[in-house]
Amino acid sequence: MPRFTSRFIDSMPGDPLQDARPRQVQGALWSKVQPTPVSAPRLVAYSKEVVQLLGLDEETLRSPEFVRVLAGNALWPGMVPYAANYGGHQFGNWAGQLGDGRAIVLGELLAPDGQQYELQLKGAGRTPYSRRGDGRAVLRSSIREFLCSEAMHHLGVPTTRALSLVATGDEVIRDMFYDGHPEAEPGAIVCRVAPSFLRFGNFELCTSREDMGLLKQLADYTLKHFFPELGAPGKDTYAAFFREVARRTARLMAHWQAVGFVHGVMNTDNMSILGLTIDYGPYGWLEDFDPGWTPNTTDAMEHRYRYGNQPNIGLWNVERLGVALLPLLEDQEALVEEGLVEYQRTFSAELSGRFAAKLGLSSLEGQADVALVNECFAWLAAHETDMTIFFRGLSQVVTLPEAPRELPRPVRDAFYGPVQEAHGARVLEWLATWWQRTRREAAPPAELARRMDAVNPRYVMRNWLAQEAIDAAHQGDDSKVHALLEVMRRPYEEQPGREAYAAKRPDWARSKPGCSALSCSS
Ligand code: AMP
Ligand code: MG
Repeated sequence: MPRFTSRFIDSMPGDPLQDARPRQVQGALWSKVQPTPVSAPRLVAYSKEVVQLLGLDEETLRSPEFVRVLAGNALWPGMVPYAANYGGHQFGNWAGQLGDGRAIVLGELLAPDGQQYELQLKGAGRTPYSRRGDGRAVLRSSIREFLCSEAMHHLGVPTTRALSLVATGDEVIRDMFYDGHPEAEPGAIVCRVAPSFLRFGNFELCTSREDMGLLKQLADYTLKHFFPELGAPGKDTYAAFFREVARRTARLMAHWQAVGFVHGVMNTDNMSILGLTIDYGPYGWLEDFDPGWTPNTTDAMEHRYRYGNQPNIGLWNVERLGVALLPLLEDQEALVEEGLVEYQRTFSAELSGRFAAKLGLSSLEGQADVALVNECFAWLAAHETDMTIFFRGLSQVVTLPEAPRELPRPVRDAFYGPVQEAHGARVLEWLATWWQRTRREAAPPAELARRMDAVNPRYVMRNWLAQEAIDAAHQGDDSKVHALLEVMRRPYEEQPGREAYAAKRPDWARSKPGCSALSCSS
């Protein structure tokens, strides 16, 4: 039987109240709160890898007793559930206290890898931070979070994980497009797993309330448990911590850009202090390479969180964290500045490294290589072209015996709609220049192709694939959820018979809600 502990609430100040009435919680980082039981929990899916990571076994996980825990209907020994208190900047504005309005941490587990992991139920009922929300989550958004966090992990992108997806048997009312048409939808709960769910917003809230004692306690806890290599608390260590978070965030942004992931709601309450992808809501995957695209309809006017702007927002968010840490940095703004410079340096190095690798190059050397990548982005954006299919297809072009003289099949396959002659010529010219450049690599073309396939995924969690799985699940058929979970376990491998999962967005999905447009209503 797994033994749960709770380091965070054992050592950090908490809320003396223990009910779920909405309130401002001062001087505390958490509130104890019980999950609200659901009517008829049913385990829809689970991640074998996370079961293993936690040192659990599948039989235990599937047992009715454990499914009750995953639904919030029962607690396992040692679990002391709580909701975390944090604030955040939402769409550029300070929003005050937010907190876990529908997430409840059950406890921490010491895993066989020596790491402690928190288990957190998302959608387990109201907490003091629910404000006017119901504390619940719908099946469609839970399927999306469950599948995508596992898919991200298998792509190699740092992320929170998902242990399980449980249907609650209860209905949840949502007005999906905020247009006055509320509907009942099936409810669900995802059990998320991460070493910590601390966000930039936890730090920001303390500082916004000028509670420097609490800020220091939180920072010292974070250092002790998650950044022990940085040394004992003190101004220099806090500065090193800030630079490290800046670096991790920069790396994460470069990674998202490289796989075409658009988070959709990069508010500072959705930025992990560990540099993990966190809070899968109205996210999406670039299908045609459009830097201006965001799936989030709440952001339709400004496109603040569009693909092409994620790196800037990452920086803006890191700056918010820096400002929040200023009291610990003895108000030395230069230390924040250093972190921002660190972010920019790390981001450019990581991004060029990742895109070089996607093109089969060991690094970008000089202006000509930079221009090559920029011209690639420019023509990709000029005509609808599937990002994933294009990059994956390049490994078949790199092995051609000579520079292509007509558009190779794998590249033509990536286009949506007919291509004008001038554009075709532009792409061909780019391909020829790129092909010539690859000949200057030390490794032979077959080796370049192998390396490229290891960084250009064949399968990503395309928006319409998730939607198909959701539509089937709404009809009582979970098999598509299982099938997607299985495919996304090996995104870089060819999986014969599963070509359909790598296909371009079908026409029906172009403007279908859930595919191209998602709201925050979840
Ligand atoms: P998000 O942008 O989804 O990360 O959510 C922003 C804030 O709203 C967080 O504090 C969430 O806990 C809260 N929230 C979102 N949905 C609900 C809900 N259904 N019930 C209660 N709180 C919610
Ligand atoms: Mg959130």
